[in-house]
Amino acid sequence: MGVQNAAADLPAMKSNPKFIFFTDFDGTITQQDSNDFMTDTIGYGQAKRREGNIACLNDKISFRDSFQDMMDSVTRPYDQCIQYVVDNVKLDPGFAEFFQWSLKNNIPVVVLSSGMEPIIKALLKKLVGPDAEKMQVLGNQVGSRDGKDINEEGGWTILFRHPESGFGHDKSIELRKYSSLPEDQRPTMFYAGDGVSDLSAARETDLLFAKKGHDLINYCARENVPFTVFEDWTNILAKCKEIVEGKATVQEAAKAGFEAYKSGAAGVNNKETTE
Ligand SMILES: [Mg+2]
Repeated sequence: MGVQNAAADLPAMKSNPKFIFFTDFDGTITQQDSNDFMTDTIGYGQAKRREGNIACLNDKISFRDSFQDMMDSVTRPYDQCIQYVVDNVKLDPGFAEFFQWSLKNNIPVVVLSSGMEPIIKALLKKLVGPDAEKMQVLGNQVGSRDGKDINEEGGWTILFRHPESGFGHDKSIELRKYSSLPEDQRPTMFYAGDGVSDLSAARETDLLFAKKGHDLINYCARENVPFTVFEDWTNILAKCKEIVEGKATVQEAAKAGFEAYKSGAAGVNNKETTE
């Protein structure tokens, strides 16, 4: 009974899955990061945003504080922000196929995001269709700024899931609920991400997919976190199929990232985080 109780408040455990796929949203499922896109085009701009990203990678500022700063530079009414993002941000070309495969194979997909749930849900609905409701989405919320309505100019601000954490949304908290399940219940945990918002998740899963050419790879290489590189979701689908069908192990796959990084095939170099 204790075992059942441990899994009782975890929706993704309801079907007793052998595998669960946790994933970042922005820049991982989508081609562009919707928050970067808003900041760069209708907020304070790309140069200042990138300064914040690099300061965060180098531990000069918390992710939460740099992200709050970015979001507060976007003053457009919230309903217009949702529409603006839905009109402009595109899905990774392989994600819809991956998601249909995951549904057929009892592999729940759980989105863990540092973005805001209303924007994520609107994008998923447009990009994946009605099946998007089968995905659990855990992100941050949005609330009123200065007592205004969120749908007026300067009226909204991001409300963090874990305001006490420097991550704002500490993704490791949710992941540990699964990784701490008893051995006979614990599913194999996959995670896909691309950037600084994934640092809190990087150490917690069995196989980390890190996006080619993005910040998460530098971090993993520096901190000795095993990973494998992906370019789009067709790579993730192919690797997951191999593992689910028993043709490869997660341990073998997790070694591959370092080799790609060392040979230059991961699309990044150490200079990017220090320049
Ligand atoms: Mg991301």
